[in-house]
Amino acid sequence: MEKLIIILFVMAIFPKIVFSKELAVTIDDLPIVHASAFTKKQQEIIFNKILNTLDKFNIKIVGFVIGKEVASHNHYMLNTLLAKGHLIGNHTYSHPYYKHVTIDFYCNDVMKGEKILESWLSEPKYFRYPMLHQGETQYKKETMKNFLLEKHYAIAHVSIDNDEWMYNDDYEKAFFNQDKNKMKKIGINYLEHMKEKTYFFELMANNKLGRNIKHVLLIHMNLLNSDYLEKLLEWYKKEKWNYITLQEALSDPVYKIEDQYIGDRGISFLERIYLHP
Ligand SMILES: [Zn+2]
Repeated sequence: MEKLIIILFVMAIFPKIVFSKELAVTIDDLPIVHASAFTKKQQEIIFNKILNTLDKFNIKIVGFVIGKEVASHNHYMLNTLLAKGHLIGNHTYSHPYYKHVTIDFYCNDVMKGEKILESWLSEPKYFRYPMLHQGETQYKKETMKNFLLEKHYAIAHVSIDNDEWMYNDDYEKAFFNQDKNKMKKIGINYLEHMKEKTYFFELMANNKLGRNIKHVLLIHMNLLNSDYLEKLLEWYKKEKWNYITLQEALSDPVYKIEDQYIGDRGISFLERIYLHP
């Protein structure tokens, strides 16, 4: 009862904090996921559809680029992103799974990615760990965190993690089999999955912090989103979410809480902090 009174009191005083639904959209694995499976024209269509959808909702993203995927034929994608006011972040050169490589390899890979992105990398410099894997031992985790700090990177945390890439893999298969019914079914399941994940992490924020937080959504630059991002963003709008930038989202003090998770899972920032309201 006492707890309820406190919650009601806080809601009355700070309704914006308790009820606010703010979301930064970030897109990984640029220029295009599984680019080699598509023709250059198809890649262009995927990219343009996603960019047009972002424009429609007036959303500015940070796009995280895999350095080795950058080639002269897709430079225009990075140029277009910047021209439209989006930002570009580093997602390493070869997208390694940290557990499978040494610290030295990983550091080199980060810097190799930075070198490729020299003319596009935005300020502040953002880094997104591939597969959200930050180190399976305390030593690996701390060393990398310090290395990134030293290189002036801000870690692009993710609060709404969702494994949307698995839906994309199936969606691509159905696309290449020209199975439109299956594509539609996967698309509908994808949207349902994203809604569930969003509710799940909203609830987790409330349980752990007693409030909602400024969320960061992770999705990918893929075929699935070229067809379904618009519907997904419409749903968020309908649910009264406001779109913010990654910089705004990371200003939420939650992201200053120490990430205590050590292990080989790539998980949401909310799952990395152990707190009780
Ligand atoms: Zn990635």
